[in-house]
Amino acid sequence: MTDDAAQPPSEMTADLETITSLAKRRGFIFPSAEIYGGFAAAYDYGPLGVEMRRNIRDLWWRAMVQERDDIVGIEASIITNPAVWRASGHVANFTDPLVECRECQGRFRADHLEGDTCPNCGKVGTMGEARQFNMMLSTIVGPVADESGRAFMRPETAQGMFVNFENVQTTMRKRLPFGIAQIGKSFRNEITVKQFIFRTREFEQMEMEFFCHPDNSLDWHTYWKKERLRWHYSLGMRPQHLRLRDHTADELSHYSKATSDIEVHYKWGWGELEGIAHRGDYDLTQHSEHSGKRLSYFDPDTNEHVVPHVVEPAVGVDRILLTLLLDAYAEEEVKGEKRVVLRLAPAVAPVTVAILPLSRNEKLDPTARRVHSILRPHFRTQWDDAQSIGRRYRRQDEVGTPLCVTVDFDTIEDDAVTIRERDSMEQTRVPISGLVAALRERLDALAPSVPGIDEISV
Ligand code: ATP
Repeated sequence: MTDDAAQPPSEMTADLETITSLAKRRGFIFPSAEIYGGFAAAYDYGPLGVEMRRNIRDLWWRAMVQERDDIVGIEASIITNPAVWRASGHVANFTDPLVECRECQGRFRADHLEGDTCPNCGKVGTMGEARQFNMMLSTIVGPVADESGRAFMRPETAQGMFVNFENVQTTMRKRLPFGIAQIGKSFRNEITVKQFIFRTREFEQMEMEFFCHPDNSLDWHTYWKKERLRWHYSLGMRPQHLRLRDHTADELSHYSKATSDIEVHYKWGWGELEGIAHRGDYDLTQHSEHSGKRLSYFDPDTNEHVVPHVVEPAVGVDRILLTLLLDAYAEEEVKGEKRVVLRLAPAVAPVTVAILPLSRNEKLDPTARRVHSILRPHFRTQWDDAQSIGRRYRRQDEVGTPLCVTVDFDTIEDDAVTIRERDSMEQTRVPISGLVAALRERLDALAPSVPGIDEISV
């Protein structure tokens, strides 16, 4: 994570405490096993949180796999042959520098400390020497509890794509360039875990390995920087909160020709949202050497074997979700009262249309249920009939629902309902016969406008 004093102050109005509390109060995210006092840096997603996570995953999958001819997907095992992690270098080198405070025994990541003050006890000059701490989480597989069964929980999904390179390439008859994508859980024994779901020990990654010819791999790296930035805009992330930062030469891994991060201007400074790494031929070469199986591509045009280079966009579902909540949060004053509103884009909002019968009166119920059944196939709906209509609007605003449909006693007579918009708070009367189209039109109007790839300079 980097701080950059030269940047303008963050325009994100929400702080983590506000979002953590909203997430819990409204059913997005709970501390894991809260009735037992929770568990450090582990969280459970509630009903609204899971909907939002699904949306994020589906949008990524659509953009990265289903809408493209050159990328296919896989799902690899979380626990696999430990030889994979020896070949990839994780067993030897997947480390972070750990320091311990001699005063309070607090442990911290050395590269996250500012100055020599302990962030826990506040003492100065009490930090010991940094030592390398391996972040792989491991387990014992099989019935005999000894070291011969030691296996690892994957710390990234990427290796699943490398070890399946040949299986995918030959079965799908793919020619260069092509990509393999995967979404799934990864595990890292992180030293410091603060900032809510920004950094946890169990998290979900969305990664894509793009295999290309070494001659044009840097062009593909540039392409993916732009394309991934565009995707974040399409989720409604405000461009002024995002930037691309190229790694400096001393930050680059020895095998990497270029790596860039998409960073977000959080209240606590700039932080990585997504990494776009050029991994060269490192992984395929390592696996070829360790497995004894040649992993290369036969180019039918030149009759040559090449080891492809790889460009990898890698991002976390949880980190996107947190960033969207922070980015969308707003407080406003309406008629002397505070209104909290999440201005989520419809594509990511957990609920797109809430159905609110004016009251629980039994005369109203069949009509309101009919409206719900008309809308349910088209939108992510929620039925909400508890408390006053004003409070229900506020509640839907607070969870980012773009549109509410209110069914009242006039509906029984005129077969029309009221659409209430989250952002403008405007209310419009619409016939039920045209309701789906009217809602669709309003949701489309709320979709963020996304620049073309040529309009993005990197
Ligand atoms: P950092 O330097 O912040 O530890 P990293 O550079 O090791 O992160 P990558 O290995 O590039 O992270 O992982 C790709 C993406 O996966 C990150 O950009 C982030 O979105 C997500 N991610 C990585 N580690 C975590 C974690 N512990 N919790 C949540 N998301 C994570």
